[in-house]
Amino acid sequence: MPDKKHLAITMGACTGCGGCAELQPEYIGWSEGDERPFLLTDLAPDDVIHELQAFCPEDCFDWD
Ligand code: SF4
Repeated sequence: MPDKKHLAITMGACTGCGGCAELQPEYIGWSEGDERPFLLTDLAPDDVIHELQAFCPEDCFDWD
């Protein structure tokens, strides 16, 4: 079983582009009214976290 880490979103710089929710819909939900992503789970595998970090243009994703 792959390692999982705690995933976190920092909303400060988020532009609401929606790309993260399209890229990882099992982990990232989308709030239509707010036009912001939210976490569906706070645990995610390394490769998912790295993909989100590489994708997000505003560096909103972090882990611990
Ligand atoms: S990819 Fe980044 S900037 Fe775009 S909606 Fe997701 S968190 Fe916000």
